Amino acid sequence: MSHTQEFIPIAEPDLGPNEEELLLKAYRSGFISSFGEYVTKFEENFAAYCKRKHAIAVSNGTAALHLALLSLNVGEGDEVIVPSLCFAAVAASVFYVGATPVLVDCVSPDTTMSIAAVREAITPRTKAVIAVHSYGNPVDMDPLLELAREHNFKVIEDAAEAHGGLYKGKIVGSLGDIAVFSFYGNKVITTGEGGIVLTDDPDIASKVKFYKNHGMAPTKRYWHPEVGYNYRMTNLQAAIGVAQLERIHEIIEKKDRVFTFYKSSASDLETKFPGLHINAQREDCVPGKWMVCLLLPENFTANMRDALCAKLQQKGIDTRPYFYPLHEMPPYAQLRTVNARGTSDLPVTRDLSARGLNLPSSTKVTEKQVERITKVLAKQIKKLALEEEGNESGA
Ligand SMILES: *Cc1c(COP(=O)(O)O)cnc(C)c1O
Repeated sequence: MSHTQEFIPIAEPDLGPNEEELLLKAYRSGFISSFGEYVTKFEENFAAYCKRKHAIAVSNGTAALHLALLSLNVGEGDEVIVPSLCFAAVAASVFYVGATPVLVDCVSPDTTMSIAAVREAITPRTKAVIAVHSYGNPVDMDPLLELAREHNFKVIEDAAEAHGGLYKGKIVGSLGDIAVFSFYGNKVITTGEGGIVLTDDPDIASKVKFYKNHGMAPTKRYWHPEVGYNYRMTNLQAAIGVAQLERIHEIIEKKDRVFTFYKSSASDLETKFPGLHINAQREDCVPGKWMVCLLLPENFTANMRDALCAKLQQKGIDTRPYFYPLHEMPPYAQLRTVNARGTSDLPVTRDLSARGLNLPSSTKVTEKQVERITKVLAKQIKKLALEEEGNESGA
């Protein structure tokens, strides 16, 4: 990296004076643990934002997934269908409750789970599906909810990457039996670490509250009818969350601007290279603005993607590869996998995982920076494509 080029990180939280003020207020109030007005306020405001009756703030998104499964009584002998192309916490949470994940293929190019594959994966043991709105792209919820009614399973939306996204005009997080979000530092809005569980069902809500707070009886302090957990969010985190939520429209608008810079700056690349997509999305959705997604041309391999990322890193441009398929990693390699034809290979997952990367996506990225990034991309992609052609004709 030469001294004239500044480093452009992949993600950065957008924190302002509003966050600082509320955080200090919480601090000065003395309520720095999980008891305090900001936790309740954050829950009420986030429930309203996602048009839900109940919201329970928790310590992180993974805890939110765990609590969602506990509240639905998912356990040993049950199967939970999850996409293979997603963050490992999704499948890990299924193991926490002793159930078995079933990994399904996804759809190209938007990376959301294939509903055809879900249909093929259903068995009498299927208790729930975790619908991950992958890289902000909403899962095709209508046919999924139809399947859920038909086969009597529950749908948990994992909207950790999709705050503010819309599915056919409806906000994500409002669609499944339960929805979970994460507020980790790189998500659309953040509380440092944090998560939330949303539902309209009062029984689910009280179970989540129960398990989150040591499994303590709501009417008898220090009486624990079951083993519980401490998954509480602190008042300090919630204060930041309240401030972030007040600005969520502003933050999403800023991110949308950055995404638009990429889209227009890289439109040439999309015409020149078949299979190359910047932020591929379905027509009927407005994706959450999490990370800028670049899918490389059709003939690109994971090695070529990694070579490109290394080159970008040299030039001060931070990237990250798409998630590796869960079924290729040791804890998940033995799980049943199902594609849209009902067989076990996951070709779309493997292909997208190999060709995908994320580009600097924070609200601080400027139009000039995007132009610089696109220039480097154009040059390097062309070079890699030519080298590949050379290799092929030489072989
Ligand atoms: C980030 C993320 C999580 C985990 O959230 P944490 O707050 O980091 O525990 C879960 N699911 C998905 C899809 C995520 O992207």
